[in-house]
Amino acid sequence: MGAMTIDILTIFPDMFIGPFDFSMVNRAKDLGKVKITIHNLRQWTLDSYKTVDDHPYGGGPGMIMRVDVIDRALQKVKSKTENRKLKTILLSAKGIPFTQKKAQQYSKLNHLILICGHYEGIDQRVADHLADEEISIGPYVLTGGELPTMVIVDTVVRLLPGVVGDPQSLTEESHSQPRYLEYPQYTRPETYQGWKVPKTLLSGHHAAILKWRREHAGKI
Ligand code: SAM
Repeated sequence: MGAMTIDILTIFPDMFIGPFDFSMVNRAKDLGKVKITIHNLRQWTLDSYKTVDDHPYGGGPGMIMRVDVIDRALQKVKSKTENRKLKTILLSAKGIPFTQKKAQQYSKLNHLILICGHYEGIDQRVADHLADEEISIGPYVLTGGELPTMVIVDTVVRLLPGVVGDPQSLTEESHSQPRYLEYPQYTRPETYQGWKVPKTLLSGHHAAILKWRREHAGKI
């Protein structure tokens, strides 16, 4: 599989300076496993003020991001894609919950497009006609879809083959299987402030260690 393409549509592109330049996401970029492009939605506005939002029909507080601006952005970003496994994801506090299983599914795609909302949210026609999925990272409200997008990109990119050095890390970690939480892990020093590492883990007895880990793995 070639590099995964990730396109992010946002009105605050500068928020993405930094988070993708370290650790696994940066490694994935360096290895050519992912190509991430941040697009400023204002380039698809048609007025001199570069307006991306307007008042809600029916009244109410705040501003709503316009469907036409997002549609033009998507048309442009999708025009570069041919015959690819693509999903367009709208970040939304009322979306379906993001899970490790979703991340595993996304990691098998060729192309992800993430739409970051702001203000009071996004015109419903984006969810109804343009996005494939409306996704929430948890039951709380953030100011915008930028932090949720960073969470999703980080979670997905580390699952791309070859990004994490030892693939076993991915099969034994929390949430890698339904209701599974990782067993407790320890490293040196063997005793600290009188707190001891469990004896079995120091035994060198592989089968006993495996049994101990199975017994101490968490369940949700
Ligand atoms: N008025 C909206 C509501 O009540 O559901 C909340 C809008 S929020 C202030 C602005 C944007 O932040 C949303 O359009 C969405 O893109 C993003 N957002 C906020 N909370 C989120 C969450 N838990 N998961 C994903 N995106 C979220």
